[in-house]
Amino acid sequence: MAERLDFMALALAEAESAGARGEVPIGAVIALDGAVIASAGNRTRELNDPTAHAEVLAIRAACERLGSERLPGAHLYVTLEPCAMCAAAISFARVERLYYGAADPKGGGVDHGGRFFDQPTCHHRPDVYSGFSETRAAALLKDFFNERR
Ligand SMILES: [Zn+2]
Repeated sequence: MAERLDFMALALAEAESAGARGEVPIGAVIALDGAVIASAGNRTRELNDPTAHAEVLAIRAACERLGSERLPGAHLYVTLEPCAMCAAAISFARVERLYYGAADPKGGGVDHGGRFFDQPTCHHRPDVYSGFSETRAAALLKDFFNERR
């Protein structure tokens, strides 16, 4: 349990860094065998890339590091419920467990919207755990969007 909170704390730090760069404050961490192998925050604006979500960037970095297109046994921590695109990437990467912070009724694709993992076309469903540090994760996003209004 303590370990999970540590990884989520690191994901929150990535989210804060993303917010400081003017990006939507979402962060992700990938752990394997109890060690962090990749972490990232959103960089869609910096990279002019609508797919540069924290989860996708972390998956790319982890795969590069392992020299593999799949991450069996990996645990992915992200501050917000992944969107449908990221849920697909998590499935394709064969991530074993997904831990997310705040739910995202407007844009989430795991427990809302398309519920990617529940579709018959989804061939790998990670174990999903939600609600980790959700208050802090949600507050980061709320503050960010309030400042922009
Ligand atoms: Zn996403």
